[in-house]
Amino acid sequence: MKGKPVIPPVVFSATYRFEDSDELIDVVQHRSGYLYSRWDNPTVREAEAMLAQIEGYEAGVGFGSGMAAITTAVMALVQKGGRVVAQTEIYGGTFQFLFDFLPKFGIETVAVNCHDKNRFMAEMEKGISVLYLETPTNPLLRVVDIVPLIEAAHAKGAVVILDSTFASPVNQHPKDFDVDVVIHSATKYLGGHHDITAGFAVCDTDLATAIWKYRKIFGGVMDPMTAFLAIRGMQTLDIRIRQQNENAMKVAQFLQSEKKIRVVNYPGLPSHPDHEIARKQMRGFGGMLSFDLDADFDATKKFMDSLKKIKLATSLGGVTSLANQPITNTHAALSPEDRAKAGISESLVRLSVGIEDANELIEDLKQALGKI
Ligand SMILES: *Cc1c(COP(=O)(O)O)cnc(C)c1O
Repeated sequence: MKGKPVIPPVVFSATYRFEDSDELIDVVQHRSGYLYSRWDNPTVREAEAMLAQIEGYEAGVGFGSGMAAITTAVMALVQKGGRVVAQTEIYGGTFQFLFDFLPKFGIETVAVNCHDKNRFMAEMEKGISVLYLETPTNPLLRVVDIVPLIEAAHAKGAVVILDSTFASPVNQHPKDFDVDVVIHSATKYLGGHHDITAGFAVCDTDLATAIWKYRKIFGGVMDPMTAFLAIRGMQTLDIRIRQQNENAMKVAQFLQSEKKIRVVNYPGLPSHPDHEIARKQMRGFGGMLSFDLDADFDATKKFMDSLKKIKLATSLGGVTSLANQPITNTHAALSPEDRAKAGISESLVRLSVGIEDANELIEDLKQALGKI
């Protein structure tokens, strides 16, 4: 039949058949085709190639979640006796993995405040196998000046991993800064519709092969239907992110003008401590922001509960605006002292701005502010 599908088919096959044994042996020995879907799957390969192309790397490895991408990539790239130097301000699950789990395997891990360049340099001088970065940070949207850190890590022969989830590939291009492995929780902006749990590691072929070998055994592979939805999401990534950037800027400017708000954390505002770094390092300021209400915990809760259009939910990056109070969920595990150190107050609200009409979002925030 003439004519080919415009959209890649979803290949649900768990296994693949061969014309003869030589063909099968070639696939097993050289990864020259498909053998079993925990190894490779055509729809997943399509999604991996699509993100690799967007980020400007040779290859991608797809996973069943962002955490599967992070844990598998790190395990593949660090050996016993190795040393991981990471930012303190990283995703909670990543922090737990690096600092509670990895040391069990004889791997040393050290956390450094993301703006303490001198301490980073000193720790890297002591030895480093992996530099683990994440920018912008959650939930304060700090932007880390990554170039000097990456240069120093490479001078020591270390591999640099950057979690670029918050920025999305549209607002930040880690390839420009010589990042070796870029991580995305595709659950967020890449999927974009709050309907998949997925992750990717993108990098050049040698590293991708190393990570793939671990995925094959750890088994945290992306499933074909999720890959299909990730492909669908990535097709509208650019237009969604442009709208989210624009909406977030409008919402941030509105919030900044409100008396009941102490501070707005959005890298696009000139008042943000990292505004200059963000201008240099990012192509857009993103759809994430947070703000501190001039209120106590209960009043903040009342504000959250008064929101109508903006939904009370964890997660981020989709078409629907979501808000949460970090201390009740994403940062609930932190002790009050650690929270204070991290600058996360009981009146902090995190907002993932969607693609709705910005005026409707502002009206919703306005009416909720009126309730406290
Ligand atoms: C959500 C998130 C993760 C984890 O991704 P999952 O898909 O939930 O496993 C990692 N890093 C960042 C920055 C995230 O926002």
